[in-house]
Amino acid sequence: MRAMQTLSAAPMPIPGHIDPVPVARAITPRADGRVDLVGLSKSELREALAAGGLDARQAKLRAKQIWHWIYNRGATDFSVMTDIAKAQHPWLTERFVIGRPQVVEAQVSSDGTRKWLLRSDDGQDFEMVFIPDADRGTLCVSSQVGCTLNCTFCHTGTMKLVRNLTAGEIVGQVMLARDGLGEWPSQPEGRMLTNIVMMGMGEPLYNFDNVRDALSVVMDGDGLALSKRRITLSTSGVVPMMARAGAEIGVNLAVSLHAVTKPVRDEIVPLNRKYGIEELLQACADYPGANNARRITFEYVMLKDKNDSDDDARELVRLLRRYKLPAKVNLIPFNPWPGAAYECSTPERIRSFSNIVFEAGISAPVRTPRGRDIDAACGQLKTAAERKSRAQMDREAADKADALG
Ligand code: SAH
Ligand code: SF4
Repeated sequence: MRAMQTLSAAPMPIPGHIDPVPVARAITPRADGRVDLVGLSKSELREALAAGGLDARQAKLRAKQIWHWIYNRGATDFSVMTDIAKAQHPWLTERFVIGRPQVVEAQVSSDGTRKWLLRSDDGQDFEMVFIPDADRGTLCVSSQVGCTLNCTFCHTGTMKLVRNLTAGEIVGQVMLARDGLGEWPSQPEGRMLTNIVMMGMGEPLYNFDNVRDALSVVMDGDGLALSKRRITLSTSGVVPMMARAGAEIGVNLAVSLHAVTKPVRDEIVPLNRKYGIEELLQACADYPGANNARRITFEYVMLKDKNDSDDDARELVRLLRRYKLPAKVNLIPFNPWPGAAYECSTPERIRSFSNIVFEAGISAPVRTPRGRDIDAACGQLKTAAERKSRAQMDREAADKADALG
């Protein structure tokens, strides 16, 4: 099914390449009129209960209890809330839900990476990916359905439909992952899900308020309690929002640099035409909280004959030094997708590039692609909105077989 057919609103205008605008379509309220409590701050939760008719004292007490059930116990139903009078359960159920995005498909890669295709209440599809490692487990979270930017090497950037995910849908991804990993009740030690990267679909700084509110719920010490040191926000370089991101969110910063000259970055990250490399690196230098213990990650996708020469590597070093950036460089082998106009650099080229950066005293690991076989790797996310569903492909294969037979 195409997600587009489930929308009642007219499609948003698609921003052009030169001046991408952070517009997204409006979010449709739940059809049943109930309010989803996931993603609300503690005070919003209290206000929602008060708006439903509870007096201030009751609202405060119930908000505290419900918060605990949602974020420590993973409850999705009021009926399990044993410290809330049974008589009040129907009242709550009539007005509120503790939602989760719907799981349309869950896949597991041969390397253990898991990808979930999710659907919002109003029929929008988005994806999240869990990457297990020996010493940690990282959840790659989406911030938008699609992306208004059009980086030429990124599959998500070719998606036409865009809407911002709500704070609830962003927190909902973390909740679903915890459900899927069986990690309730919350425990401080021994968790599989230890890290979060805002590196799924979308540009998080073009959905600033929802991303900030969602991460503040995720970091709240009485609930999911993930430390800001274990959360990384990746931006393609929305310069005007970077200072606010530092001040109001305060998580680790990753910047999708990908090129060191204006012509190349203009081409592959079109946002560069608006906020150039110098401006971007200055904003990184000014990012609060960046220091040698908490470096800024510069992501650099390795595209054959495009941005991968030794000269590019030397220029990268020069720029990072010039802005005195506490930096580490993450070299990402280009992950191919159907119709992409690029190829991945050769392993020798990547090694040579990495060595030059490394010899300048800057760490430059090559990121091992994870989950490529299920299209879960960086830049491969693109949902069924424009891709054939598995069921449809199966049907077509069966039809073909019938025709042959
Ligand atoms: N919009 C944000 C975060 C999501 S993308 C951003 O651009 O930073 C997460 C990372 O994957 C970014 O560094 C992005 O440039 C990179 N990426 C996108 N497409 C890719 C591809 N095909 N191969 C490898 N990395 C890719
Ligand atoms: Fe959007 Fe990031 Fe993809 Fe660029 S790389 S199109 S900003 S998701």
